[in-house]
Amino acid sequence: MSNLELAGASPPSASRPIGGLTHPSTSSPRLRERDGLPDGLLETETRGLAALLGGPTLIHLPGDRDPPLFVCVLLHGNENVGWEAVRGLLADNLRRSGRLRLPRAMSLFLGNLAAAAQGLRRLPEQPDYNRIWPGSELPETPEHALMAQVVETMARRGVFASIDLHNNTGRNPHYGCVNVIDCPSLHLATLFSRTVVYFTRPKGVQSQAMSPLCPSVTLECGKVGERHGVEHARDYLAACLHLSAIPDHPVPPHDIDLFHTVAQVKVPPEVSFGFDTNEGDIGFTPDLDQLNFRELPQGTSLGRIRTPGARLQVNDEQGRDLAARYLAEEDGELRLRLPVMPSMLTCDALVIRQDCLGYLMERYDHQVPHRGGGAGAPG
Ligand SMILES: [Zn+2]
Repeated sequence: MSNLELAGASPPSASRPIGGLTHPSTSSPRLRERDGLPDGLLETETRGLAALLGGPTLIHLPGDRDPPLFVCVLLHGNENVGWEAVRGLLADNLRRSGRLRLPRAMSLFLGNLAAAAQGLRRLPEQPDYNRIWPGSELPETPEHALMAQVVETMARRGVFASIDLHNNTGRNPHYGCVNVIDCPSLHLATLFSRTVVYFTRPKGVQSQAMSPLCPSVTLECGKVGERHGVEHARDYLAACLHLSAIPDHPVPPHDIDLFHTVAQVKVPPEVSFGFDTNEGDIGFTPDLDQLNFRELPQGTSLGRIRTPGARLQVNDEQGRDLAARYLAEEDGELRLRLPVMPSMLTCDALVIRQDCLGYLMERYDHQVPHRGGGAGAPG
């Protein structure tokens, strides 16, 4: 899932120099690990964290219950919702109690601080910090070893649940993603939103690496800078810290809309396109991204095919060609052959060329088994 999360600068914010601290290299991928809150951490915005902490850091905070809730922020440096939610929650707890007193221990991983210092998803020389966790298919880098070390550390300490927080671009609701279908993970996801997406590719994402250890979710909290996203994430984390257990019984069907990604849609390089029906081989509907997360009936038009024979590429996670299954040309209109729900459709021509037009999802209505049960991955 990537065009959701393209590099983009977050709004400018004043980075705060930390008095008396040196500024160690921010490019070193060595893992820093520490117990307790470093001085000044909660006053520091994302752009100042590299100067304060030096690089990727795992912080262990005690609480009334064990094992810890594992919270992951800033795997993408420009997506500040996770850090803003965590520091708001911790500052609030400190204010109320006079000292930090969490209902459950928390281990907090702050990821790509070098990119965060520049308001970028990642630096040009860096890999994507959410594609390099164990199970990754990308060429090995020092950062792969760092993420493996984080997983090993959490496996050794024990972990209650894992939550990885992200922002995205485009018009999308808040939703949770799971990489396995089991009751605890679905409960964890529906605590955030009734909309849940199940995906198994790309590989190497944090929530997939953690899922053998504990219920694990990736949360998509809307666009950078939206106050509602930060508040929603903060309230969610507070609720998770108060949980004594995560239910193992099935999520009632009326509490969840579960979708799985069935195909990625691309415009082949030789096909031209526009968002005005008078331009390009294919003229897409001008407000295509408004179709995201809407269940579209069979026959819905995505635009006009102006050059006969021009077609889109539609492939599943195994690369199989599904164009004929999902799309048809009828009297020059490009129409859906099946009911689907798109996600991450974009009207940004550069994004479409560099990545894709978007994804197609279908409802995942299989009976949800208990953990270890066998719904399995689609396809
Ligand atoms: Zn992200």
